Amino acid sequence: MMSIAPMSFMLNETHKATLQVATKQMLDLLHRVSEPHEYRLLATVDRNTLIKEGFANDLVDNLVYLTERNANKSVKLSNDKFSIGYTQAAFDASLYATNDIVKTLAGASSGKCYWCESQLGATHIQEHLVSHYRPPAGYLHEGALKRRAYVGLTYDTSNLLYTCPQCAEKNKGLQFPTLDGHHMPEVQQSNEHPVLINPRTENPRDYIRFNPLNGKAYAFDRVKGFYLQKQMDEAQIEAQLVKQPNTIPLQSDPTGKALSSPQLDAEFNAWLASLSVNEKASLSRGEESIQILNLNRHALLLTRLAHLQALWLTLQSDIKSASTDNNEQGELTLELPLLAQQQFTSLSIDAKATWWHNPHENWSAIYLNYVQFLSGEQTHHENVFVPALAQSCLMYLVLESELTLKQVRRIVMLNSHDLLYASTTSKCVFLPINWQEDWHNLVKVHENGTTWQTSFNELVLTKPAALQNLFSRSEVWAEGNYEALA
Ligand SMILES: [Zn+2]
Repeated sequence: MMSIAPMSFMLNETHKATLQVATKQMLDLLHRVSEPHEYRLLATVDRNTLIKEGFANDLVDNLVYLTERNANKSVKLSNDKFSIGYTQAAFDASLYATNDIVKTLAGASSGKCYWCESQLGATHIQEHLVSHYRPPAGYLHEGALKRRAYVGLTYDTSNLLYTCPQCAEKNKGLQFPTLDGHHMPEVQQSNEHPVLINPRTENPRDYIRFNPLNGKAYAFDRVKGFYLQKQMDEAQIEAQLVKQPNTIPLQSDPTGKALSSPQLDAEFNAWLASLSVNEKASLSRGEESIQILNLNRHALLLTRLAHLQALWLTLQSDIKSASTDNNEQGELTLELPLLAQQQFTSLSIDAKATWWHNPHENWSAIYLNYVQFLSGEQTHHENVFVPALAQSCLMYLVLESELTLKQVRRIVMLNSHDLLYASTTSKCVFLPINWQEDWHNLVKVHENGTTWQTSFNELVLTKPAALQNLFSRSEVWAEGNYEALA
């Protein structure tokens, strides 16, 4: 990650006004229905009233208005929570991913993903290249979705990022932890302390850098903290890490061989363990951001190593001749304008500095070896991929009459209103789907008198329109190791 150049969005007045109206209507609708009622959702008559009042159909039908039970707690009615917000489908990408906005966002990074710095080609669908820093569909907290926090930032251009679908959808998804656990609207935006680095407002290189020995992202903030308490100053630390990357703790090469010494790793771990909770939290942003975005994922690491090999072949003769002049300035000036245009700029800066100090190492052979190793390796157990749309709108619904059911859970799609409105006469609770644990449970669909089988995997990869169809004309449930709620 590199810091992103400041940008100004030249939105015309009509577009600005449209964004304002859309935001106001979303917030007004939430305010309008925010009076809590236990065990109910909007009935058809409420829906008609809201639409008559002038709220857009799309908003009303994607409104989440329900009683959620925390699946992890004992079955106590007092633990139930009232949830209000929208599913992902309520947010209109044609308003925030317009040509002008995408062009401005992309221009600021020379067309690279703000998180992983991959060059994003024309093969992507434009809408999929814009994501939100603060997720308007809500953030995940202990398995449940807190839906209301960031709705007002859906069309706020300062909340938009240019990102690849792998970083934004597959990995970040609806994760948005804060250092102290406080989120908007409980605290103001300016007092919120997100864990995830925001490349629009912060310099990611303060937190994340790259190890040229293995191509991996590492938590620079934490490593710097470690060396600061060893009485080194910042300039000494930076110089040491590029001259001797084997002093970056807890590093191994792609084949699994350790690159840092066991003594160093032990010392680093002991220091980490000695930190107070607050100290540890304040030094966690680099590491947590790497984890949330999965910046060392197999495919990305492979591409980075191939990039390093190609870059070394381009630069090696310049580096070898210039470094023998012992000209320290040469290190700073060499090909930097070119690097900023390329993908993986931050990695390239770190690699170039290390190569400068170790010009006779056979870098090409090292990277080629890793690329060959990783190419032959199976991509291992990645997390299950659940698109934000499915996470925000698929839930378990348990009717009062079904509280004693075991091994079976009804699944509903929140913006498929027919079935939901029909069930409002009965009390019901909603439970979040535990995507990791329930993933292999059997999903069954009852439709026109017949029952057929499917899977969570198929369900979440179905096109939204087809999914909505499926849920509005059939009953869908999962069979697995579920407990009765009463
Ligand atoms: Zn990316």
